[in-house]
Amino acid sequence: MPTDPADAAAAAVDADEVLAIAQALIRARSENPGTTEDAAAEVVTGVLLAIGASPETVRGEAGRPSVLATIGRTGGPTLAWNGHLDTVPAGTLDTWSVDPFAGDVVDGRLIGRGACDMKGPVAAALAGAAAVVKAGMELAGSLTFHLVADEELAGTHGTQVLRDRGLLTHDAAIVGEPSNLEIALAERGGAWVTATTYGAAAHGSQPHRGVNAITAMARFLLRLHEVVPDTVHPLCGRATVNAALIDGGSAPNMVPDRCVVDIDRRTIPGETDPDTVLAPFEVLADELRTDDATFDLRTEIREWILASETPADTPIAEAIRSATAAETGSTPPDVGFTGITDARFYLNDAAIPTVIFGPGDLSVAHTADEWIDVEEMVTGARTYARIFASFLGA
Ligand SMILES: [Zn+2]
Repeated sequence: MPTDPADAAAAAVDADEVLAIAQALIRARSENPGTTEDAAAEVVTGVLLAIGASPETVRGEAGRPSVLATIGRTGGPTLAWNGHLDTVPAGTLDTWSVDPFAGDVVDGRLIGRGACDMKGPVAAALAGAAAVVKAGMELAGSLTFHLVADEELAGTHGTQVLRDRGLLTHDAAIVGEPSNLEIALAERGGAWVTATTYGAAAHGSQPHRGVNAITAMARFLLRLHEVVPDTVHPLCGRATVNAALIDGGSAPNMVPDRCVVDIDRRTIPGETDPDTVLAPFEVLADELRTDDATFDLRTEIREWILASETPADTPIAEAIRSATAAETGSTPPDVGFTGITDARFYLNDAAIPTVIFGPGDLSVAHTADEWIDVEEMVTGARTYARIFASFLGA
């Protein structure tokens, strides 16, 4: 029996249990949009009860379940571990080589919707906590699970509910999204920009009498990349822009007088002012108007999500770094997370140092045949067990 508490916790991880929990979660469909997280909530509730925790289900106005449970004792350091129970829809079933809800393992990979994003990581964290309990460890602090609904559609019915109820009060948080067991200290934000060009309607047989709003939009979109500043964030790289949705015109025989495009402008930490992000759109519109006086484009930010960042030397990052080094023999790099996660609620709204850290590769999230390497998932469980034992002072 190892004498170091972190070694003892890691040694107590049951690899079969990690896989069994992940498979049970994949079989508990929770597509968002599509269905609720109730079946998945039942699975995690069962696991938490089995390790002696007292899980409770918190539901917002929409009735979607988030499961909360705490192990350890009050008075010491507090750590929240957040993972979402929902997944994106499976998509077209015949693009999968297996049933996305069967939990099949093929060549060491667990395949299924949510395998890496993020039922596999949830299973790893639960098994890590189970190992801490099984090793008979007395934590000096407490670990609280926030196993939430609705992350895939902005968290309104999940982590946001916990925030609104004042439940984000911890010393530190881990959001267990798949990060390849690298330490994601920063995540990008987003500005959803609606751009509208205005023209003048005319008979389609006499286009010279009108102003074509679609053609105007085309000229704008071909130069859209110019709205992204050259600034490079050390972890997140450059900001990006993507024209995502387009709508324009009224009939095939008319000159269109209006065209609307929804633009997904992803921001990097440091981009804190929506007006500054929007300014280059206006500069580009002015240039196009100089070339052609009929050019008329208006932009507005429909939704704004602030990018977030935690200092590299925050204690939870240090704890993750040494736990991973002890488990894998190498220190993981600090990285940026390209997507938007629930970490922003902890970091931006509650000023809690938060790290995104979990097994699995984000590049296979939301794809057909989404998978997680079973061995990496088990390494994740052992690493979580070490983190819980060391950060919470076993
Ligand atoms: Zn996710």
